[in-house]
Amino acid sequence: MTATTSRPATAGFRLAAALAAGLTLAAAGAARADDVAAKELFAARPLPAAMKPQPIGFYSRGCLAGGIAIPVDGPDWQVMRLSRNRRWGHPDLIRLIEDLSVKAKADGWNGLMVGDISQPRGGPMLTGHASHQIGLDVDLWFMPMPGRRLSYAEREETSAISVLKAGSFFVDDARWTRAHERLLYHAAAYPRVERILVHPGVKKKLCETVKGDRAWLGKIRPYYGHHYHFHLRITCPQDAANCRPQDPVPAGEGCEQAVFDWWFKDALVPKKPAKPDTPTRPRHLRLADLPPPCAGVLEAEAVAPEAAELALKNASFSAPAIDMPTFDAAAIRASRPIEASRSAAEADERAAAATPLADIPVPTPRPTD
Ligand SMILES: [Zn+2]
Repeated sequence: MTATTSRPATAGFRLAAALAAGLTLAAAGAARADDVAAKELFAARPLPAAMKPQPIGFYSRGCLAGGIAIPVDGPDWQVMRLSRNRRWGHPDLIRLIEDLSVKAKADGWNGLMVGDISQPRGGPMLTGHASHQIGLDVDLWFMPMPGRRLSYAEREETSAISVLKAGSFFVDDARWTRAHERLLYHAAAYPRVERILVHPGVKKKLCETVKGDRAWLGKIRPYYGHHYHFHLRITCPQDAANCRPQDPVPAGEGCEQAVFDWWFKDALVPKKPAKPDTPTRPRHLRLADLPPPCAGVLEAEAVAPEAAELALKNASFSAPAIDMPTFDAAAIRASRPIEASRSAAEADERAAAATPLADIPVPTPRPTD
């Protein structure tokens, strides 16, 4: 983060630079923690807090103590967009991704393309994502691994491919395969997997085509975006007193026609913004908006880099080494969305921000939270 010294001397950059240099919040001087967006503070920490693994707070408002990284290559996965430094999570999630990669491979999916998990200490991010803050969320691409290891540059530049037919809300049958279904099945089958977010068109496809056991469909929740990747969320670990669980998914498969009517005839239909000239600016979370223990997570000593990665089950696996960059806010902000078009990615983000997950209707009973 040495580059921060040449940036405009705003409170945010001064504090981020001071923290990156190892100073405490108190020593950061004129820049007060409560003046700074929490995303600046968390993005300036390239390594996790050397603490007992613990998600703190809620998926969209919290932080992570004792995170570990998924290695950039495993036998059956590759991590994408390495410049973002978001391959960190609670050890339970990182191990689950490893396990899922093996099951999926055995069932026709040629390895996982792993997208964003969390920052080393969780927390809000400079770009994208309302959630992914406590190390219990991961994005996995709707694209199997290619038959070779991608270079660092390829992992930055390669775009994911939508599973929808261009210009429609519906899955393209030329792209959708039985292996997609089986990947989602294996993911949803873990008791620890709390829900999986997919585009409503993907949910519709599953409702129409899954045979036999359909109980797992209830965990597959329709949401904006999520046709280039799906989002997997696990429950709070049992011993995590500071982790706030989400209300459970409603009972049933969630395949009612009313659900799809709402999505396809209302929610996904582009609407004219009420006041096009005054875009609403989201208020950024401050450190004080997060659970109090997150200040300690931010200040804690960093774990040594060599101790911060998952030890692979298959210890004999090796892949070509990748030189990792020095992480900085400018590179993170410049990172390409995984979608082919930045404007499409931003439109999905805006739509999601306007309708938080808790407000998505289900037919009966309609949720009250
Ligand atoms: Zn996600």
